[in-house]
Amino acid sequence: MKQVYLDYNSTTPMDERVLEAMKPYFTEKYGNASSVHHFGREAKTALEETREKVADFIGADPSEIYFTSGGTESDNIALKGTASYRRKKKDHIIVSAIEHHAVLEAAKFLEKNGFAVDYLGTDLEGFVSPDELREKITDRTSMVSIMHANNEVGTIQDIPALAEITRGKDAVFHTDAVQTVGKIEVDVEQLKVDMLAMSAHKFYGPKGVGALYIRKGLKVTPLIHGGHHEKKRRPGTENIPGIVGFGKALELAEENREQEHHRLSDLADFFIDQIQAKISNVYLNGPRHEGRIPSTVNLSFEFIEGESIILSLDMKGIAVASGSACTSGSLEPSHVLRAMGVSAELAQGSIRFSMGRFTTKEDLEYTVSVLPEIIERLRSMSPLYHQSD
Ligand SMILES: *Cc1c(COP(=O)(O)O)cnc(C)c1O
Repeated sequence: MKQVYLDYNSTTPMDERVLEAMKPYFTEKYGNASSVHHFGREAKTALEETREKVADFIGADPSEIYFTSGGTESDNIALKGTASYRRKKKDHIIVSAIEHHAVLEAAKFLEKNGFAVDYLGTDLEGFVSPDELREKITDRTSMVSIMHANNEVGTIQDIPALAEITRGKDAVFHTDAVQTVGKIEVDVEQLKVDMLAMSAHKFYGPKGVGALYIRKGLKVTPLIHGGHHEKKRRPGTENIPGIVGFGKALELAEENREQEHHRLSDLADFFIDQIQAKISNVYLNGPRHEGRIPSTVNLSFEFIEGESIILSLDMKGIAVASGSACTSGSLEPSHVLRAMGVSAELAQGSIRFSMGRFTTKEDLEYTVSVLPEIIERLRSMSPLYHQSD
């Protein structure tokens, strides 16, 4: 059976070239980067060269890059590390309501531990309002965390405008850029952010490796304690093969970034047009053109449940997601769509199609060829559909 993977926002296949770059660091260049001998120095060189590459890519200084186990850990260090460090002076944090669970759950943890947390809503397209941030920020606010692009609907926030607001308030601004690194330009000076989270497996690198940018001069309380690795902010023997893979993946993503952006925009337009022409009562969540990562196409199919669409598509070899991967398995409507003001019913019927490097037009044509029948069949069994006749 034909296999079509349209779930690139949850993870991507690793590029073969990344694997090739990583291989020697498992078996030949296996030194511990803290060792002073030849093997150690070899690992240390790879580590520092990658740090420079990552820093260069986001417009930072190498001393501002910290390698972690991925996006989740980077977000956790940013939120908990900052809030804890500044606790004596400030006890309030602000996050958007559409954040990834890595940020939302860290915020909830802080809330349980005595911090006041404010959640910013969004408009119907998923944009956070700078005015709302301006209203909620106070002298007690120690940090603000607003994601660069949302993983479910693809909305890209106006980060410079939002970050600017925190500057006069002595509040740290963190952004989760896991869905933008490798897809659009990410530059910490342009974005005016103090912290930024990345994850390699979202751009054709290995799983379990990420990085956190921490602006020079900012202090965080580490979450784990150990040796002197990563300037004690993230101790533990560095994952050199993973880190090398992170660097290689970033390099490859950057090489073809603009070309890929156009290719995926065209594919997404084709896909949305075809679906809307062939299926009635289907709505795009998030902005139609400007302000969306084009490869993220989130559609609500009225009168049916996303979970049943996923299962039917899976039987045809097509892999998609409903809500975020973390909530699937439970029938909770997506917290992102709900925060955007999408009705519970339409949120339940939402499907995220996310495309990437290996997606072809044939993949989408195949999906478009099987989807109308699936939707028709599921709607014919839906009591909601008949009521509307
Ligand atoms: C995938 C993702 C994360 C989590 O990253 P991991 O490396 O899987 O821990 C965090 N934020 C966003 C927006 C994501 O898409």
